[in-house]
Amino acid sequence: MDTFMEPSRRIPVLGEFDVVVCGAGAAGCAASIAAARHGARTLVIERDGFLGGATVSQLVGHVLSTNGVDFQGIWHEWIAQVRERGGVSAPDLIGAPGLFRLGVDPEVVKYAWDDLLSVAGVEILHHAWCSDCMVEDGLVRGVIVETKAGRRAICAKRVIDCTGDGAVCAAAGVQWEQGDGTNPWSQALTKVFRMGNVRWPEGGYRPEQITQARKALKQAVARGEFDSPVVANGRVITYSANNNVHRSVAPHRTEMNVFSSRVLHVNTLDPWDFTRAEREGREQAWQCAEFIKRHVPGFESSYLLDTNQHVGVRDTRRIKGRTTVTADDAWHFRKHAHGIAKSSWDIDMWPADSYDAPAVPREDPVYKRRIEQMKHGEYFDIPYGCIVAADLDNLLVAGRCVSAERGAQASLRIQQTCQSTGQAAGTAAALSLQEDVTPAELEPSRLVDQLAADRAAVTPVLATLRDLT
Ligand SMILES: Cc1cc2nc3c(=O)[nH]c(=O)nc-3n(C[C@H](O)[C@H](O)[C@H](O)COP(=O)(O)OP(=O)(O)OC[C@H]3O[C@@H](n4cnc5c(N)ncnc54)[C@H](O)[C@@H]3O)c2cc1C
Repeated sequence: MDTFMEPSRRIPVLGEFDVVVCGAGAAGCAASIAAARHGARTLVIERDGFLGGATVSQLVGHVLSTNGVDFQGIWHEWIAQVRERGGVSAPDLIGAPGLFRLGVDPEVVKYAWDDLLSVAGVEILHHAWCSDCMVEDGLVRGVIVETKAGRRAICAKRVIDCTGDGAVCAAAGVQWEQGDGTNPWSQALTKVFRMGNVRWPEGGYRPEQITQARKALKQAVARGEFDSPVVANGRVITYSANNNVHRSVAPHRTEMNVFSSRVLHVNTLDPWDFTRAEREGREQAWQCAEFIKRHVPGFESSYLLDTNQHVGVRDTRRIKGRTTVTADDAWHFRKHAHGIAKSSWDIDMWPADSYDAPAVPREDPVYKRRIEQMKHGEYFDIPYGCIVAADLDNLLVAGRCVSAERGAQASLRIQQTCQSTGQAAGTAAALSLQEDVTPAELEPSRLVDQLAADRAAVTPVLATLRDLT
């Protein structure tokens, strides 16, 4: 049997809202807070039983920025909440030349978002999978969700797709792109894992300790103890004995996030391929953990605490919007009168077909120049049109799947920029309701001005975080 004809059926309506946000990661949390604060009755729907998305479920515990320009609005409120609850790592990494870097505790991240969304008055639906989009007369009327109670409909005047995968836009029939044009592969996927009970050497690793670990690696691989390419290629040492890595965990903690896994040639939208990625990633994680325990000083009594719940996915669909931010825009730091978010991270592209090639070839003169420009405050704008779906006037999209060419997505996929596009989408949804126009008809300058006012009203926290150093 090639296909099965699903019989039509009546679906009970679970609720009716002004704004429905699908997915509660960085983008979805910010979008729902912004929409609710602007007076819209807002529901966020999340397949997992917690808020935070990839930051939590993929164990992406790092906040990185080249110049801090991309930290905008709600991001400051979020990090302040995480910090207040003791969830921000060693402050000595903040403000290193040309790099802001800190770690966040995933458990605290869940709790901080819980609080921020509750105070804003957002309604939350967990354990519900958005599986379809209700479209009538050229407008979105709501979404279909799969729940423990069965299939349900949720009606909405505005829908914001923050699923990371652009799943709702795709279901609604909006066009999208994937991969590099020659194949559908996502960037390399990563099974992030955490080691517990790590005791780093006082004062960090000495060069001879790293040399010794590399020697042990060669011998162990020659003996056939490890066959995983991410052990054999030495990434396992780079990620464990790198003197920066351990400081991205709060000083009183003894665990460490390890990012050495790379799963290649994965079409994340293919269910079988995606399954392979989880299993291959876990095999990589176990081999890495075993090697670290045996051969990297400080890990003698450590153990594999956990692997991420969802294998780390850096890109899938890029949804077609009214405007597209191009790779050229990203490389040349183009500004836009209708800019709603700033992106100032590297063009950070993890090759889908190499265990070794760097994601950011920092020694390449072209990259080097771009990084230097960012160190001096450069960024590119994401115009409003990138978050309005091309074909449907009341459908918005935010996060890593906004309308962008691959080379631009590789930068704007960073968490704080996802939060910024989310805040913009939530604000646009609410403003469009207030003005009785569709998001596509909303005057972009109205949104740009509102965002500027809202973001200016937030106390920036970077200076206070730096004071901790
Ligand atoms: C291994 C790895 C390392 C990274 N390193 C960094 C880093 O150091 N710093 C950084 O800032 N960024 C990093 N990133 C990128 C960053 O984490 C993500 O791009 C960003 O968090 C994406 O945010 P988002 O809100 O767009 O999507 P997500 O955070 O993925 O949120 C999407 C949400 O939607 C939910 N969802 C999906 N489909 C459905 C559905 N059909 N119905 C209901 N809910 C659904 C998901 O459960 C999830 O909660 C990394 C990414 C990876 C994979």
